[in-house]
Amino acid sequence: MYRSVAAFSQLMKLLCLIVLISFIFQPIGRAIAASAAANNACKHKGALGVSRVLEIDVSQGGQFGRAQFDNTLPLNPGEVVLTFDDGPLPHVTNKILRALARHCAKATFFAVGKMALDAPDVMKRIAAAGHSIGTHTHSHPRDLRHHYNDYSRYQIERGFLEVASSAGRPISAFFRYPGLHDEPKLNDYLTQRKIANFSVDIIPGDTDGLSPARIISRTLSQLKRRGKGIILLHDIKPATARAMPRLLAALKARGYKLVHITSSQPFRPVAIEKLATKYGGLHHKNPKTIIGGKSYRQLYAEVDRKIRARQRKLFRVSKRKKWHKRR
Ligand SMILES: [Zn+2]
Repeated sequence: MYRSVAAFSQLMKLLCLIVLISFIFQPIGRAIAASAAANNACKHKGALGVSRVLEIDVSQGGQFGRAQFDNTLPLNPGEVVLTFDDGPLPHVTNKILRALARHCAKATFFAVGKMALDAPDVMKRIAAAGHSIGTHTHSHPRDLRHHYNDYSRYQIERGFLEVASSAGRPISAFFRYPGLHDEPKLNDYLTQRKIANFSVDIIPGDTDGLSPARIISRTLSQLKRRGKGIILLHDIKPATARAMPRLLAALKARGYKLVHITSSQPFRPVAIEKLATKYGGLHHKNPKTIIGGKSYRQLYAEVDRKIRARQRKLFRVSKRKKWHKRR
């Protein structure tokens, strides 16, 4: 009897040790596998690739980018993050996606809700390629500081719902203000909603009608000065799409490392029925606009329900696993 108890306790100790070791080494193993996958997966010669994945803890919101905030991403010297705003616009975004694929590069797209609704195929392509998807409001008002806060909140929430619905899956809890015009109360709102608030570090100015050559030279000269940072580009500008193959090659040639940012948890929708009722028609020619046989209002409610149901399912499967690794 005594021997069997001793053997049992030995066995339990061994089991505990195995569990402990697997807990300690699992994340390390995953990190090694992820970095090896990032480095080895690309078969294209001279590709920029992804040097590492940086998971952003959105539980406290967070503000990133020196153009607006005191804080930016914890990047090492020579590390860059590629971001694209204002799209998707099929003929431009698709071209950018091809250039990124050629370099096995991963970017973050801050999509505009109504643009996303118009181009669900492109949104699904962005998601399928493994890029991160954030949002940039529903309709890109020039400056949210000039609006009532509940209208701005509506713009933010609706943008997320539309982009997620269009992508057909939960998206990152990443937001960027139109025109980079942030507002203190809305910043608090984003924090409370566990949404990371993204600004930028490098602004090539591709919205200023620059040629591809100028977009590249301005990106490189700013990077040379700052040494690293979040780069702001726009996937609605044909010149940006034309610049991408050479820009990615230039980043590689100069030894810059691409970092892919991901969200620690997806955006979690809240019902916006009340705000939608209040503002649904305000900035639309026809508040009863029908998309695919459904009114905007029906669409929000449906999107909200679908995403909530999907997220409930995802979180039921395993709370430990990271949502974006299960895609
Ligand atoms: Zn914008």
